[in-house]
Amino acid sequence: MHYLTKASEIQTQIAEFALAKVLWLDTEVANWNTSYPKLSLIQILAESTDSTGKFAYILDVLDKPDLIALFIRQIMVNSQIEKVFHNASFDLKYLGEKSAQNITCTLKLARKISLKTLQTSNLKLKTLATELCKFSDVDIEEGRSDWGKRPLSDKQLHYAAMDTVYLAAVHQHLLKIYHPDFVSNIFNKIPDDSKNISLTATKVRVAFECPRLFYLHQKFGGNTLFIPPDNQVDIGNSFHQLADIFIKLAVSESRFTEIFKTSISQLNIDEIASRLQQLFYEIKFSTYLEKAVEQDASTAQPLYKVWQGLQGLIRRFAELLIVNRRYCSAEAVIHNTFVSQERKLEHYFQLPDGTQQRVKGEFDCLVYNFEVKRLCVLEYKTYQPVDPSAQLAQVALYSYMLWYQKKVAVDSAVYCVLPEFKEYQYSWEQLENTVHQLIHYKLHQMQQWLSWESPYPNSPPPTTQPYLCEICPQQQKCQTFFPSTVVITASNLPS
Ligand code: SF4
Repeated sequence: MHYLTKASEIQTQIAEFALAKVLWLDTEVANWNTSYPKLSLIQILAESTDSTGKFAYILDVLDKPDLIALFIRQIMVNSQIEKVFHNASFDLKYLGEKSAQNITCTLKLARKISLKTLQTSNLKLKTLATELCKFSDVDIEEGRSDWGKRPLSDKQLHYAAMDTVYLAAVHQHLLKIYHPDFVSNIFNKIPDDSKNISLTATKVRVAFECPRLFYLHQKFGGNTLFIPPDNQVDIGNSFHQLADIFIKLAVSESRFTEIFKTSISQLNIDEIASRLQQLFYEIKFSTYLEKAVEQDASTAQPLYKVWQGLQGLIRRFAELLIVNRRYCSAEAVIHNTFVSQERKLEHYFQLPDGTQQRVKGEFDCLVYNFEVKRLCVLEYKTYQPVDPSAQLAQVALYSYMLWYQKKVAVDSAVYCVLPEFKEYQYSWEQLENTVHQLIHYKLHQMQQWLSWESPYPNSPPPTTQPYLCEICPQQQKCQTFFPSTVVITASNLPS
């Protein structure tokens, strides 16, 4: 099981879960029998065939309201992800209540089937796990233990993880009885070994940066972002959220259209960018900032950075809109530039050994440039990447998956918005001759790395860029797990 306590690890994992189709969830609550209960843990399982809790995640959210709010925003209100609970009404009290979307409750499902058909003593999760799914040694004691104390005992953590395992098994059994057709949709093809595990475009990027980091993350979870310590890491979510809102507003608000109602020769980039920025600031950003600062004054500085990043992004959008205005009316230009479509992608790649590898991902934005007659998929970063070629691998995957879906060439770009706007552009032709040809081999290599077990030879190799070890978020784990590794830091570089 993966027990996550650090905010950055939890944020990264929430972003991963946002790509899932189905999640099995449970919560533990501190002070549950008092008038001031508070959420202590959120337990999540994304691999339904796990019978030991090895793939379960436990997010420690005690006294971390921001992380709970992030979980609600990214997971609970996301209608694309099915969230399965037992007795969902209890957990939803702490996880978004009525705003939660796409919830399945196995207690309700069991009630529909009835005790008589199930032939179990009652409909409690642990009873169903024991009597319906034939689990042995099901612990029922720890549920009432003290979830407000820290550190939690191993027994408590095991108990918390196993609840999601029981839940997934009970869900599967109930569906088999109630709706057999659904079982194959939800439970088939879910991987139970490293060979069939689902990869994401982000994981491919990590594997390019460092195979060992990719391996450690896949096996144990944890952070994978190489960010220098002086860099602001907590602004990514706010930036992405506001960038999405900007596009939604620009497409739907007539005041944005007004800006382009002038003769094409008079469209000046500085003026258009400034008007778009100003309008967005007035309509959205000022109130967003005000509310955030009201809740927590320390957010002012990070949000100032977010605004800097947004200004760079909006200016880049202004350039593209001016180009496209030559081909579209003022009324149509914004709508035609920002392509509206499902941002989550999934593709089965055929590997050199004849097997298939599923890769999922979610891009940030898709735009159309009328001058070059090309779609371009965009990835935003709120920091300068330490390895632009690894970023290239990530966006190249999006472009490949979109090409497969749409059967048209798709360029890619990474917009690094801070500390100042910088753009990395890759044309379809560049990608086709390089990354697209390599990607199947790379995925095969990644599968081989994942099948490695200590102490056998041929472990995943370390990064080829030793300076990354200096800022590696898993440097310590790497040294423990790969003991023969000499992690290269400033202190052991030859003078
Ligand atoms: S310390 Fe270096 S080799 Fe180890 S995981 Fe991190 S980047 Fe890779």
